[in-house]
Order: sequence, then structure tokens, then C-alpha cells
Amino acid sequence: MNKLGLHAFVWTAGWTADDAAMAIRSTAELGYDLIEASTMDLKGFDVPSTLRELERNKLGITMSFGLTSDMDISSGDPERVKRGEAHLLDAISLARDVGATHVCGILYSAFQKYAAPVTSEGIRGSIDVMRKVAEKAQASGITLGMEVVNRYESNVLNTARQAIAYVKKVDMPNVKLHLDCYHMNIEEADSAAAIREAGDLLGYFHTGDSHRGYLGSGSVDFPSIFRALEAIDYQGPITFESFSSAVVGQPLEGILGIWRNLWEDSRDLASHAKTFTEVQMKSARQAVAHQRR
Ligand code: MN
Repeated sequence: MNKLGLHAFVWTAGWTADDAAMAIRSTAELGYDLIEASTMDLKGFDVPSTLRELERNKLGITMSFGLTSDMDISSGDPERVKRGEAHLLDAISLARDVGATHVCGILYSAFQKYAAPVTSEGIRGSIDVMRKVAEKAQASGITLGMEVVNRYESNVLNTARQAIAYVKKVDMPNVKLHLDCYHMNIEEADSAAAIREAGDLLGYFHTGDSHRGYLGSGSVDFPSIFRALEAIDYQGPITFESFSSAVVGQPLEGILGIWRNLWEDSRDLASHAKTFTEVQMKSARQAVAHQRR
């Protein structure tokens, strides 16, 4: 059974003890299985209160983030690669300490609009670091998700096919693809075909509509996405991610281009996303079972 998750930025962009308590409690109240906490500030992450609130609310946790330019492991610059490796290893320690099952996002490069394509040397360096990070993660049972994102957020993995090649080169059982239908809607010729091509290598999934607002209110073809997830028997987490200027401030609003306020009521948005996802999953199960009869 897929665990259903909610990105913490639906509630708050921070992770103080109060932020964590509110986001964890609210996510659990809506019946989600896990919260995806996202932070670059590893030291500002309150571990004891996070653990206490997760336990109190019987909620699981995953983590996500993107590297900054000065720690870009795909840069080919030894100093930046070294800083990136250290940050990723620290993030794995934090994930282990809070009991996270998955660490995902743009772990393989900086999270930014690049002005030039990545070099083959840059990709090789990123793969070498990722293997070391994966070895540490494996010891704590943590899966790493390489999030495939659109061209304005990285120049390394923009399509599922690129990520399949990257993951195969890392060659660790706990390094998987992390696909997101918001990004796929921009870059893939056929999102459902990309999911099928990823197959067993898919380890994490983000739902989001074309404008990152309410699920089903944009142009993403969710029935075909969920049928593809069902067809490959995907069993990993499905996490809803949505951003509004009502919650997210700088620097994220600048990097992601969140200029518009797509919603104000976090609870209504998240409640709707869970119902929408469950309906899509059930419809997809029926559709695929019918095709196989
Ligand atoms: Mn995403």
C-alpha cells in the first residue's frame, strides 16, 4: 500500500518546535501517513520536538531539499563538491535521527536556474558523491530519491530517462527515481510512459498540478498518471506538494517563482488533495484490473 504524504510547506516554510508541532498535528488530523519536511537549515531542525510530535501523532516522516550553488556536487569544482558531500552526509544523519524513511529532492545538483548545460565531468562527480551518500543512508535503511525537475530548477535530471541512466550508474539499491507530475508535465513527452519506463526504479512520487494549486484544477492528466503508477505496481510514498505565496517566503518563492497566491486555506487544500488522491488511486486500480481481465 502506498503511504500518502503531505509536503510541510502546505502549512509552514519553517521548522521551529512550534512549526513542527503544528504541521505534524495538522497532517495527522487529516489522516495522512507521513509528512515531508523540507529544509536546508539542518542545524535549525528541532530533532527532539519533531520526534516527540511524530510519536504523539503516530505520523511517519520523509525529508527533501535541494543543494545550494556553493555546495553543487555537479559543478566539477572540488571545493563545492566537498561541501555538497559534507552537507548530504549531515542530512542523512539528521534523517536517521528523526526516523525518516526517504531523503529526496534535488540532491544531485544545485536547486537553481543554470546558465549552461552540465558537463559529463560534473555528472561523474555527482554520481561518485551520491554513491558514498547512499552507502551511509543504506546503513540506516534510508532510500534516496533523485527528483526529476524542470529545466529552470536544475540542468542535470530533467527527464525520467536521464534519471534512470544516473541511478543505474550510482548502482545502489537504495537510490531511486523521484518523479513529480508537475515537472513531468513540463518536460516529458508522455508522463505516463515515463512512469512505466521508470518501473521498479521509481522510489518516490510527488503529486502537483500544472500551476501547483488544488489537485485537479490544472491541466495534469491525473487518470493516466495514476493508471501508470498502478500498472507498474508502485508501492512507495505518494506525497502532495503545493506552494502558495500565502505560506512560502524567500528564498524559496524566488527560486520557484511563486508570485501568485493559489490558495489561502492550507487545511482545505490538503484535505481535498487526500480525497482526490484516494479517488484517483481507486479508479486506477479498477481501470487496470479491468484491462487485465
Ligand atoms: Mn516535487
